[in-house]
Amino acid sequence: MTSPSDFLEELDDDGLLVPVVAVVGRPNVGKSTLVNRIIGRRQAVVEDIPGVTRDRVAYDAQWSGRRFTVVDTGGWEPDAKDRAARIAAQAEIAVATADVVVFVVDGVVGPTDVDEAAVRMLRRGGKPVLLVANKIDSSRQEPEVAALWSLGLGEPYPVSALHGRGSGDLLDAVLAALPTPAPVEDFSDKPRGPRRVALVGRPNVGKSSLLNKLAGEERALVDPVAGTTVDPVDSLVQIGGEEWLLVDTAGLRKRVGQASGTEYYASLRTAAAIDAAEVAILLLDSAEPISEQDTRILSMVVDAGRALVLAFNKWDLVDEDRRLRMTREIERELRRVPWALRVNVSARTGRSVDKLAPALRLALANWERRVPTGQLNSWLTALVQATPHPIRSGKAPRVLFATQAGTSPPKFVLFTTGPLDPGYVRFIERKLREEFDFEGTPVHVTVKPRQ
Ligand code: GDP
Ligand code: GDP
Repeated sequence: MTSPSDFLEELDDDGLLVPVVAVVGRPNVGKSTLVNRIIGRRQAVVEDIPGVTRDRVAYDAQWSGRRFTVVDTGGWEPDAKDRAARIAAQAEIAVATADVVVFVVDGVVGPTDVDEAAVRMLRRGGKPVLLVANKIDSSRQEPEVAALWSLGLGEPYPVSALHGRGSGDLLDAVLAALPTPAPVEDFSDKPRGPRRVALVGRPNVGKSSLLNKLAGEERALVDPVAGTTVDPVDSLVQIGGEEWLLVDTAGLRKRVGQASGTEYYASLRTAAAIDAAEVAILLLDSAEPISEQDTRILSMVVDAGRALVLAFNKWDLVDEDRRLRMTREIERELRRVPWALRVNVSARTGRSVDKLAPALRLALANWERRVPTGQLNSWLTALVQATPHPIRSGKAPRVLFATQAGTSPPKFVLFTTGPLDPGYVRFIERKLREEFDFEGTPVHVTVKPRQ
């Protein structure tokens, strides 16, 4: 059986990772004002909770249909000795974690020593840097920004973060500087067909029996509502008053008790069904001990990143004694999935079969859950402050911020100052699950240490 640390897979470079834009600059130049301008004031107000505002560093943003994460570096490095060192350290982190750096200076004041120290660091990092001359509230002030050419970062963008002047041009430039386009989010509310479910489990747990119970013998393979033809290998069934598409069930449409083919083909069919599905019902035989074959199929579902419902079938055969033994078996054999939803059913009597529907719905909702970046980071900052990473040879890596890189299943990326202990990553994942309701779905957590 595989361990939770198997989740620590790398995201490929053109994967789901949303690009990161870091806003850097010395205090009072207007970084937070600019960040608020970029994310839209509504989001900032909605998420404002007294006391935690200062801790929040990363937010979701969108411009011209592209999604990115904007990071306000203001809160970092509170214990650095002097100001210049602090700003340089901020800049260093920004360079390491961001795809594009927005470097903000006060356009009225002009370049300062501290600005110059930060620039040296930014240039070494080799990331695209956009220079913002902030507080240029009117066109009359624009000539003042010419002095900023001396910073050697090219043409300054005159912006008034307070009034919004010039921020559109800046954002156009930010998008142009981003790497490969982020995947386009589908925000449309287009109606979708029935959710796709894989009914899996080792031979004889009762898959055919359950399918027959749900579908009836003569179930038409045409969706009467949408008029669409269902693939003949799939079965359209009603559970809890709702239609569900049980995928790749052709092999199960047989008389109960008929031979189900070799184990090899059964395993191929299982993999194909999981692949085609959004959520899997893993059927277990409650009368039998949980076997290695069960946990192997469980791993197939989890590794494929599908939502999961465990259905303990043949519950009509379970007595008090078996129930007690089962509790211990579940703790031991299913420890990889403490988050899985469980339903006790009987395909023979029909007991609780309808209860599969709410479990499927909940698992799918959590599988598709997106946590707003601001909310994620206010929670994460408090968590890592209360329980920092253990110290290893005098040092402890720090978690700087996190973003949710994708859904289905939820994928999170932790930006850190160094590699994290797998145990600490599991701790964060466990807390993440407690906080944001990820019952019924795998959650992927990736660590991105700064180079
Ligand atoms: P930070 O420390 O860099 O995050 O700076 P803040 O965003 O907190 O801004 C510092 C001060 O500058 C605040 O009083 C802002 O209202 C002010 N400020 C920010 N942007 C502008 C601007 O574009 N024009 C003017 N006139 N003031 C600004
Ligand atoms: P499959 O190989 O997973 O498709 O399993 P089948 O549906 O062929 O069922 C295997 C055996 O278990 C058959 O003899 C079924 O009658 C029996 N069975 C299936 N579901 C139940 C149940 O809920 N209770 C009991 N007592 N037997 C069941």
